[in-house]
Amino acid sequence: MGCDLKRRFLLLYATQKGQAKAIAEEIQQQADTHGLKADVHCMSEMDKYNLEAEEDPVVIVISTTGTGDPPDTARKLIKKIQDKSLPPDHFAHLQYGLLGLGDSEYTFFCNAGKTLDRRLQELGAQHFYNTGLADDCVGLELVVDPWIDGLWLALKEVFLLKKEKEDMNGNASAVTNSLSAVPLSAVPCEHKLELTSKIQQLKLEDEGVRSSDVQSQKLFDVSLVTSAQDTEPSLVHSVPPISQSALNVPALPPEYIEVQFQDTHGEDPSLTSLISEGAVFEVPVTKAVQLTREDAIKTALLLELDISDTTFDYQPGDSFCVICPNNAGEVAELLHILGLSEKGEHFVCVTVKQGTKKKGATHPQHIPERSTLKFILTWCLEIRAIPKKAFLRALVECTSDAGEKRRLQELCSRQGASDYTRFIRESNVCLLDLLRAFPSCRPSLNLLIEHLPKLQPRSYSVSSSNLFQPGKMCFVFNIVEFPACPTRPVSWKGVCTGWLAALVEPLLHTNKNIQDAKGGRLLNEKVPIFARPNCTFHLPADPSIPFMMVGPGTGISPFIGFLQHRQKLREEHKDWSFGETWLFFGCRHQDRDYLFKDELRCFLESGTLTHLKVCFSRDLPAAEVAPPKYVQDMVRLYAKEVASILLKEGGSFYVCGDGKHMADGVSDAVVDILSMEMGADRLEAMKVLATLREAKRYLQDVWS
Ligand code: FAD
Repeated sequence: MGCDLKRRFLLLYATQKGQAKAIAEEIQQQADTHGLKADVHCMSEMDKYNLEAEEDPVVIVISTTGTGDPPDTARKLIKKIQDKSLPPDHFAHLQYGLLGLGDSEYTFFCNAGKTLDRRLQELGAQHFYNTGLADDCVGLELVVDPWIDGLWLALKEVFLLKKEKEDMNGNASAVTNSLSAVPLSAVPCEHKLELTSKIQQLKLEDEGVRSSDVQSQKLFDVSLVTSAQDTEPSLVHSVPPISQSALNVPALPPEYIEVQFQDTHGEDPSLTSLISEGAVFEVPVTKAVQLTREDAIKTALLLELDISDTTFDYQPGDSFCVICPNNAGEVAELLHILGLSEKGEHFVCVTVKQGTKKKGATHPQHIPERSTLKFILTWCLEIRAIPKKAFLRALVECTSDAGEKRRLQELCSRQGASDYTRFIRESNVCLLDLLRAFPSCRPSLNLLIEHLPKLQPRSYSVSSSNLFQPGKMCFVFNIVEFPACPTRPVSWKGVCTGWLAALVEPLLHTNKNIQDAKGGRLLNEKVPIFARPNCTFHLPADPSIPFMMVGPGTGISPFIGFLQHRQKLREEHKDWSFGETWLFFGCRHQDRDYLFKDELRCFLESGTLTHLKVCFSRDLPAAEVAPPKYVQDMVRLYAKEVASILLKEGGSFYVCGDGKHMADGVSDAVVDILSMEMGADRLEAMKVLATLREAKRYLQDVWS
């Protein structure tokens, strides 16, 4: 079939961190080998497609961000189709398949995909393929790979049905001139039979395409089998059956980046060029306090940033982003292994390879022009990312040792799916781990740029009030620690929290003083930040409205900002009336990780905080009747007050913290309370909670 006669489908993606885009590109790439043409667009490019007039099938890949929000690039379309005046057959002509991406650690898993799907259905659009919901928590590829595999047959069914319909209408030549498609159930029986055999034929053709064009390889290396037979499998070692199995490895992804080193001198780009969301401010740390005792399981630090010389502004409840570098030691090791230590300071010219077979290949947005090699590895690429199977497949080609090559092939093969999950994904293996484990693997820099994702800025909730501490902004974080494991003999700290902890180390040991005896700053390095305003997680506009806050662990952070703000308002406006404030806090041990204990006591004494309820999950109970362990248990104890604030007093309820389970536990408790107090069943109570969420009176700021 000539290129221009390829059957077309519209492929829309809405991405926040680039995953939906990468998947759309993968679909586009594969479409070609299936004799189809994906007309791919970012969902925000609404001038490039028109769903109202679309006649070809539509494939949508959409991720979810924040608390179940659509990516910024999807907002315009979603807003447009939310229009209540649209008739129920508005999209009756549309056939679509939708792949939602999300993370089940967050509440409202895949909410953007689900919302869009629901609305398209309401407007009469029809599925030509089941919706897929992929979970980043367990590995997107578990759903994404089979979903894409099945997509081709589903698309071909749609095209065949169209052709059937055209043939039935005596218009056999109009293959590319789409008519409205018919659901399978609406096809007459005799046509279905014929259709099934055509689909069967296509399946075979499809398999033909796979074995030639996609270069699915059958590999069998007996020499490796004997030595592996009676040992345990590991990252580098396989046992039967996989070690003896023929393998289906994915097609080699086409290379598309070319790099050239330029030995010129100059400055690295500014960090602002790394983001598209506004300006980056590099601000000094003016205070660092360890909030937990040495024997606490997690170490929580509070940092105070000086924003007085900037135009950075925030409200209590906002989050902001820190642009963090990769660990310098890891960058140096990577440079060494790649044989590029001498070239760290060289500028790298990154271009798209001429004549590359990769569809829609573009210059990676996250690599600013005129960056040095060190800058790219330090600020642009997530070198700790878990390598995807396509990356492993590409690494096979750069590995000289036959045994290592075979193991890498196994790990990216269909037969090695469970080994991939166990030894790569669940072990959080990163590129450096792989390069250490497979010493004959020497990838080139262009491969790293092609396969490593963007190093993402990390978000933090503000823990201060700009009224209470003008020119300052505080935040609190736990230092993320990963213990040593078989694939990595040394323990690790999180990229951002590890960097911040090392950065402020001198402050922690100098009595929290930012200046040394001579008045010089102890820290030269600054923290690059940018705003990530949260439009809803704010104090009620009317101070007389009562509210409850639930924030275990570092989840207390925004509430300290709320209380500081409230305290200042109370001092400045003695004539205002202020509603009651409740705080439910929880931690492991009263004397090890009770964050802001003294500050909370002061807020209580001043009346800024009306009720403080605290629980300790790991302290042995002194009383005979065990006290509540978790914040959700504590919330249940105050059922009457919760119900009164939510149902009678028009109050607000805030939940913040690390972990979906806590947030789900709290919302379950609130549903039970509402159901009990209203004398209604759970379903009714859930509806009330949904209404409260919609009215922005039940608000969550939850991360994992
Ligand atoms: P990373 O290096 O990114 O590691 C974090 C995660 O990666 C781990 O939890 C784990 O799932 C995985 N991981 C990576 N490597 C390994 C490995 N070797 N072994 C096991 N797992 C691994 N955090 C706070 O502490 N305080 C806040 O106020 C706060 N507010 C937030 C607000 C929002 C809106 C969001 C989205 C997040 C917030 N976070 C907050 C979380 C914060 O953004 C970071 O995710 C967190 O600090 C960890 O960053 P990191 O770079 O140190 O860790």
